[in-house]
Amino acid sequence: MQDLPINEIFYSLQGEGGQTGLAMIFVRIAGCNLRCPYCDTDFLRGKLMSLEEILTSLQQFPSRELLWTGGEPTLLLSDSMVAFFKKAGYKQSIETNGTMPPPQGIDYISCSPKPEAFERLTSNFPQGVNEWRFPFGEGIPLPPEIASLPPAQHYFLSPILDPHKTISAQRSALQSCIAYVLEHPQWKMSVQTHKLVGFQ
Ligand code: SF4
Repeated sequence: MQDLPINEIFYSLQGEGGQTGLAMIFVRIAGCNLRCPYCDTDFLRGKLMSLEEILTSLQQFPSRELLWTGGEPTLLLSDSMVAFFKKAGYKQSIETNGTMPPPQGIDYISCSPKPEAFERLTSNFPQGVNEWRFPFGEGIPLPPEIASLPPAQHYFLSPILDPHKTISAQRSALQSCIAYVLEHPQWKMSVQTHKLVGFQ
């Protein structure tokens, strides 16, 4: 099976969305098909690893919760790769920007759609997702109407926070998201707790 370019593998708590607080092994696949202006993720560098090498790395951690992230993991992650880690006993989640359909076999889909993906959400996710997590901030298009989206368990808005600024310096970003949710109560706000608390 093909190797994957891995930017990093680390064990931490999920900091946002419907799985907040869950201990997960984060596997960041290098490469993305977008260049969002607010992106704070280093996704360019990657070391090629075989699936067996990735599995060995995962096995040093006690959790069996694996989170594929990026970059954009759907560019390279295949059905057979997901099947390999399922057979090894891992529950698999994915974080995706919505531009590509996810591989078969993923247990939890968290889609954070970027504007380039808005037109493709129905065709890429015909069965729906576990959570929509739309970035919310100045210069970003407002999320589509919920009725136009494939179904989900959770509908989140995630205010864009700059990790290099204090929270108090970003109150207006949070307050505009709070105001939007108060007016559109079908949405919930998801704050990036890892940036608030200071963990990876
Ligand atoms: S889709 Fe995500 S990883 Fe890719 S550039 Fe945008 S924010 Fe960064």
